[in-house]
Amino acid sequence: MFGDYGEKINLSSYSYLGLIGHPDIDDAVRRSTASHSTGSHGVRLLSGTNDLHSRLEDRLANFKKSQDCVTFTSGYAANLSIIAGLVRPRDYVIGDKLNHASIVDGCKLSGAGFFRFNHNDPDHLHHRLRQLPVDANVLVVCDGVFSMDGDILNLPKISEVCKENGALLMVDEAHSLGVIGEKGTGIEEHFDLPPDAVDIKMGTLSKTIPSNGGYACASSEIVEFLKHQGRGFIFSAAMTPQSAAAAIAALDVIECEPERVGQLHENAELMRMLLNRAGIDTLQSETAILPAFCGADQRAWFLAKYCIDNGVFVQGIPYPVVSRNSARLRCTVTSEHSSDDIHLAASVIAEAFRKIA
Ligand code: PMP
Repeated sequence: MFGDYGEKINLSSYSYLGLIGHPDIDDAVRRSTASHSTGSHGVRLLSGTNDLHSRLEDRLANFKKSQDCVTFTSGYAANLSIIAGLVRPRDYVIGDKLNHASIVDGCKLSGAGFFRFNHNDPDHLHHRLRQLPVDANVLVVCDGVFSMDGDILNLPKISEVCKENGALLMVDEAHSLGVIGEKGTGIEEHFDLPPDAVDIKMGTLSKTIPSNGGYACASSEIVEFLKHQGRGFIFSAAMTPQSAAAAIAALDVIECEPERVGQLHENAELMRMLLNRAGIDTLQSETAILPAFCGADQRAWFLAKYCIDNGVFVQGIPYPVVSRNSARLRCTVTSEHSSDDIHLAASVIAEAFRKIA
């Protein structure tokens, strides 16, 4: 990481596979500018759709082994549009207690009866579902990898409970696409589950994929429905040709360079091992998001400042982003970190924790 602050090891990037600056992706963007210029002429349903949007949606559907796909201009817009498009005031939506704010906002906006279940607890979800009228339309929404804790949704059990109770399941793969599964295709691959374990596979194009946008991969019926009921699709301009071209090229790179995913897994394991060996609690994290738990908000401020002053760019996460007294440093590892970077960063973090002991 460069700039006015000097060179630092960046432990705050979502570019999990280091694809920002990949020559093939930059080249695809240059070609899209030559062929399509900038801008999109308007909303998708009127004049906004071009061949890059259609190719991106086919590519995502293929990557996620879904029938079809619809894209939005951001992950945030996708969550609002998908959730508020699928459920209405007479329906119900149930979410994990640690879901991302964009999911919570979508649930509130929908006007549907909104309940939460205890974090990653299929039995509590089952209990919640049993409390609803038998003929209700119910959507269950969860993060695939929880963004502040780095733990993975118990998809085998959550999917089973949803099927048993006739609820649709939507999973937000913002932090699992490109990150989990041997090939980086996400949560079904990680658990070796069939593609229909999740009904609506939502994700962003702003993290592993170095672009902007969000998507829903689902059955053709659901995708068609969202194209006519998802307000962020209907009333907001199409994503730029550059964003679409970058995302298509990034999916190609993920498939052609699987070693990046393997390197990411190795780096995350090394960082976890070094932090744990220094006595730092990384909660239930199993992924590239590693919380270094410290409790009080003031401790997180101190730790972050110490790390930044000593060459490691990492952020403290306080209440209300996480619950009271569960502040943490939130470290994200990428495939681009060298083993030396990780050892050095872990030793600075460990030194910061010793200062507050
Ligand atoms: N879902 C999750 C889990 C996220 O972490 C984020 C972004 N931090 C979003 C959705 C929103 O995505 P975007 O930034 O592309 O709008």
